[in-house]
Amino acid sequence: MTFQRINIFIMIFDLKKDCYQKKRGSYSRLLNLFCRVCKKQFAVYQKDGAGNLRRLYFDRILYPKKIVHLEKKLWSSVPPLSCHSCREALGTPYLYKKEHRKAFKLYQDAVIKKIRKNKS
Ligand SMILES: [Zn+2]
Repeated sequence: MTFQRINIFIMIFDLKKDCYQKKRGSYSRLLNLFCRVCKKQFAVYQKDGAGNLRRLYFDRILYPKKIVHLEKKLWSSVPPLSCHSCREALGTPYLYKKEHRKAFKLYQDAVIKKIRKNKS
């Protein structure tokens, strides 16, 4: 567990730049996401624009591999998001109609976010 954790912290992630990022003012941050219950990190996420984190777009999840590239799948075939450590339910898959974009709708206060500082 410790080894895995250290690995997450030294990994460098590239920001995704596309039409969604542009629409939000080309302002993006990488976030480390933690489970509210057990405090363990469960994902690295790219947040575009300001505002609260209400949903996790599939195409912005950068880690772990298990939940990366879910946008290629049918959203209804994706299992609900849960903490890999304590199994707490964190969110539910849905289609964000406004942008026709697949995402996890986060349960209220399920997630703690911290801005990630890349070493690059
Ligand atoms: Zn947990």
